[in-house]
Amino acid sequence: MGQFSLWKNLKNYPMNIKIKTNNRKKVDKKLVEEVLPKSFEDLIKDVHELGICGECGGCVSFCSAGEIKAIVMPESGPPVYYDKDNCLHCGICYLVCPQTHVMDNELNKRFNYKVSIGNYTKVTSSQATSEEIRKKATDGGVVTAILSYLLDKNLISGAIVSKKEGPFNRIPFFASTKDELLEAAGSHYDLSQGVVGLENYNSFVPTITKLKQVVSLDMPSIAVVGTPCQIMSIRKMQELSILPAHIVKYTLGLFCNLNFSFNADARKELEERFDFSFDDVEKLNIKENLIIQLKNGQTKYIDFKDIHEFARSACFACRDFSNVYADISFGGLGSKDGYTTSVIRTKAGEEIYNNALREGYIQETSDMNTSVKKSEMLAKVISFGKRKFERYKQARKARE
Ligand SMILES: Cc1cc2nc3c(=O)[nH]c(=O)nc-3n(C[C@H](O)[C@H](O)[C@H](O)COP(=O)(O)OP(=O)(O)OC[C@H]3O[C@@H](n4cnc5c(N)ncnc54)[C@H](O)[C@@H]3O)c2cc1C
Ligand code: SF4
Ligand code: SF4
Ligand code: SF4
Repeated sequence: MGQFSLWKNLKNYPMNIKIKTNNRKKVDKKLVEEVLPKSFEDLIKDVHELGICGECGGCVSFCSAGEIKAIVMPESGPPVYYDKDNCLHCGICYLVCPQTHVMDNELNKRFNYKVSIGNYTKVTSSQATSEEIRKKATDGGVVTAILSYLLDKNLISGAIVSKKEGPFNRIPFFASTKDELLEAAGSHYDLSQGVVGLENYNSFVPTITKLKQVVSLDMPSIAVVGTPCQIMSIRKMQELSILPAHIVKYTLGLFCNLNFSFNADARKELEERFDFSFDDVEKLNIKENLIIQLKNGQTKYIDFKDIHEFARSACFACRDFSNVYADISFGGLGSKDGYTTSVIRTKAGEEIYNNALREGYIQETSDMNTSVKKSEMLAKVISFGKRKFERYKQARKARE
């Protein structure tokens, strides 16, 4: 982004900010000096106090105070001041937070946003050709297959994903080999190792915090897999030229309706209410509802609205289901078992999907890719997008 576009963008915001940019020297000094009072205090007021902080860690990771530390993530709960005097009142934390909507107009314009679904050029149902990937994947393994293609062709040095740690939890992870990609395939809902000893389980993985760490490795380009809130933060950083967002060449977004936070009491309640034991669970997945596969072959389908009380409150302040700012968005919704639905949105997304298909990393089935089936797939994604937006509006009304 050149000086002019940066200046043009900043003029539109309700504040002026000190920007940590890869072309910092070019930024008009006046801009940097004219700091209007948006800071972490405002984030506390507009996000934390409303109970909608998703604890993604984005504000702390990209705080301009850096090493001298102004804010930190506590063991649990939203970020807090470490030393208020170190705060530069730059507003970066406010801007990158996915729960502030100060840049919606700019992002919607840049990504040609259309209500509920966002921009798209193609919707498909496909799967990885590699059986090894399919075995580990959540749905059809298309995300892992495309990342493998990008690594093989040296288009990325690696990808920020999440990997399993312990029996149930997942952690942010930078995968730079195909074995590591395979290790990270699938989702956090894989319970095959049982849940004995599990105290708290939060299905959200703060992968965005990893971005700050990989930049020190001097990576020329990487891919990021993330939920809509995570991809939105990255797009905001790219729009503002905040380092290190420039190294993110491909954003692979996941559909996301809700994330859950289960403590021991919540798990017990779920077991009683839906008549199963977590010890008997083979796998959990999310499509139109929460799907619980039991080891005895039985499958339970639980409507999201029946488990709203276990969802993170931040998710009710979120209105994007299909990851509208990603290069490609992926979900199980609309596809049959063992396949992934892909909504291809940008030129970069189109290029990598088509090349991965052409080079045999993924395959489409003819029965799922007729124009009728594609319209049905799209209608489902749009309908979930609308439902999520309605839920957001209702939650906002309730807060007011
Ligand atoms: C929190 C969450 C909620 C979802 N909600 C829905 C939904 O409501 N409806 C729907 O149709 N689909 C949903 N999905 C998407 C779906 O579960 C699959 O991830 C998607 O279909 C891609 O499948 P795949 O087999 O192609 O991916 P895979 O090849 O298995 O690759 C998945 C990739 O996602 C990464 N990953 C896993 N969990 C996370 C996480 N929490 N944060 C960041 N990266 C992660 C993995 O490391 C891996 O790289 C959700 C996914 C997640 C993680
Ligand atoms: S210095 Fe850090 S905490 Fe203070 S306003 Fe800037 S980003 Fe926020
Ligand atoms: S949602 Fe993320 S960026 Fe926003 S205040 Fe919470 S931790 Fe910070
Ligand atoms: S529902 Fe929204 S806020 Fe919650 S994890 Fe998904 S994208 Fe993030």
